[in-house]
Amino acid sequence: MTPDLAARRLLMSAHLYYDHSQPILSDAENDALAKYVSDHFDDLHPTRIWQLRNRKIILATTHHVKLTTQTIEASHAWYYSVKGSWPLHCAYCTSTKPYKESPTNGRYYQIGG
Ligand SMILES: [Zn+2]
Repeated sequence: MTPDLAARRLLMSAHLYYDHSQPILSDAENDALAKYVSDHFDDLHPTRIWQLRNRKIILATTHHVKLTTQTIEASHAWYYSVKGSWPLHCAYCTSTKPYKESPTNGRYYQIGG
C-alpha cells in the first residue's frame, strides 16, 4: 500500500469511527496504519499532510483531522463495499456538518471542532 493510500484510509477510518461510531478497522489495524503513515509522512500528498497535520499526533489520535467531502463520500463507499450496507446517518454527513471552504482543497470540516 502506498503511503498516500494508507493516509486516505486512515482519514476514512477516522470518519467512520468518530462520526458514525461504526469502525471499519480494529484498533490494532488502525494503530498499524497510523504508524505506517507517520513513518512515511514526508511522502504524502500535501493535501493529506494538511488533513492529518502532524506525524506525531496521529500516533495518539486522529480526533483532529480535516475531512474533505471527497474523503467523507469515499469512506461511505468503502464501508458499503466491506459491510454491504451504508453507515448510519450518511445524509447528515453531506448536508449539515459545519463545513468550511479551503482555497485549494474544497469543502471540509474538522473532527472535534
Ligand atoms: Zn459519514
